[in-house]
Amino acid sequence: MAFEWAERLKKLPPYLFAAIDEAKKRKVAEGCDVIDLGVGDPDMPTPRAIVEAMKRALENPAYHRYPSYEGMLRFRQAVADWYKRRFNVELDPTSEVTSLIGSKEGIAHLPFAFVNPGDYVIVPDPGYPVYHGSTVLAGGIPYHVPLKMENSFLPDLESIPEEVLKKTRIFFVNYPNNPTSSLANREFFEGLIKLAKDYGFIVAHDAAYSEIYYENPPISVLEIDGAKDVAVEFHSLSKTFNMTGWRIGMAVGNPDVIRGLIKVKTNIDSGVFEAIQEAAIYALENEPETDEIRLRYKRRRDVFIEVLKKNGFDVKPPKATFYIWTPVPEGYDSISFAKRVLEEANVVITPGVGFGKFGEGYFRMTLCISEERLEEAANRIAKVL
Ligand SMILES: *Cc1c(COP(=O)(O)O)cnc(C)c1O
Repeated sequence: MAFEWAERLKKLPPYLFAAIDEAKKRKVAEGCDVIDLGVGDPDMPTPRAIVEAMKRALENPAYHRYPSYEGMLRFRQAVADWYKRRFNVELDPTSEVTSLIGSKEGIAHLPFAFVNPGDYVIVPDPGYPVYHGSTVLAGGIPYHVPLKMENSFLPDLESIPEEVLKKTRIFFVNYPNNPTSSLANREFFEGLIKLAKDYGFIVAHDAAYSEIYYENPPISVLEIDGAKDVAVEFHSLSKTFNMTGWRIGMAVGNPDVIRGLIKVKTNIDSGVFEAIQEAAIYALENEPETDEIRLRYKRRRDVFIEVLKKNGFDVKPPKATFYIWTPVPEGYDSISFAKRVLEEANVVITPGVGFGKFGEGYFRMTLCISEERLEEAANRIAKVL
């Protein structure tokens, strides 16, 4: 039997990387040595001490039962303590923190709690596709605000029409940013918080990369005075501790928003396995290997960019994240360039248009492979140019 998809599912955009995936598979099947700079998934293992904390926790039968939706109080306390240390922001662990099954889960569920059909959700373009997708699934209308190089890849708040702002329920932002690797400054967050208060919408800041930085530590939106009146922030242990497979993150901030999110969760999931929460408590309290992880990416970044430069391809080094976002050479669009690099250099890069139409003209490369392989990839890409 053929079953027709629901209207909401039909409305989701097609998967733009399908052609690249196909071509990559073909190359691998032909026996080519393909280097994948497409995946945003740390290649390094989770720090040993976190794995050991998990092993100990696994032996505790109390953790084998259903977890609570919002997370163990000790986990939420560890999140609050980390926030205090890292950002000097006070959080009430009982009302201003919830655990998430990875931050993607919370980002995807947020519109279900606050968006009615016809409401707008403002999403950055280029951006993480989940903001758009979850808005559509919840019946909302995504309004794509462009992130332009001349504006340091920050949304131009003045450019958003009044009639959109009036019907906006959520404004998603993401700094350090995937895919552009840009950072937000305090002035930008202040302007955004003020706008949110004027129009009565939620600021949802995705801070998944807050700990992957090479210069100054990025700020939290909750550092802005009065931000908690309108803002929530999503964090994840995925990128910070090489734990993408573990599925644990958190949302913090405005207690009404956190309550709404938990209500959706109680109807859909059953919380995070408590042994994983135990390992996450260890990670947040001890931050094992975070300096080493940053240093490793920094070395990769420097080697990669140096080899590209030696070959005449000048790329600006990112200050945060493990992404390099840069314009495609003259005469290409992002898909045709990605295809050419794959065909001729056996290197997978991500065409910018896959992150939204304002990503056209750019491509993204990740630093999630060894220095050696990055050097090889840089040499091969340079030859195509
Ligand atoms: C990786 C990533 C996330 C988080 O992923 P989880 O593993 O679900 O916590 C969230 N936002 C962006 C922009 C990301 O790149």
